Amino acid sequence: MKKLFKNFEEYLSTIITMIRDLSDESHNKIRLAINVCQSLHDDAEKIYRLNTTLKKCLWEIPEAIEIGIPQYLNKEYVKTRLLLDYHDYNCINIMECKICQDRRITIDKLRDINEGKRPQIHTK
Ligand SMILES: [Zn+2]
Repeated sequence: MKKLFKNFEEYLSTIITMIRDLSDESHNKIRLAINVCQSLHDDAEKIYRLNTTLKKCLWEIPEAIEIGIPQYLNKEYVKTRLLLDYHDYNCINIMECKICQDRRITIDKLRDINEGKRPQIHTK
């Protein structure tokens, strides 16, 4: 955890891709956690808060339960960071890029409809 992410923005960017296949209920929980994070000031605190919620959501993934939630998370963090680093360097057309499309769909799900404002998530 500690050394995997430079800051909260990078952490958030990573999990946007990781949570793509989670249920609507989980997206809802994560959306609420992101809102809470916006009132926190320390990046480590924000990551901890959001990570706590993410761990709970992972109970819906059989593989995560099988190999253990922390182990699964670490594996996915590393895999997703590599994918995104490669992507950020190579993505040419955000309208045709599958990774960018998936991220937009997830970000839309995470938007806070009730408050009419969107969380501060960057697509890249
Ligand atoms: Zn892209």
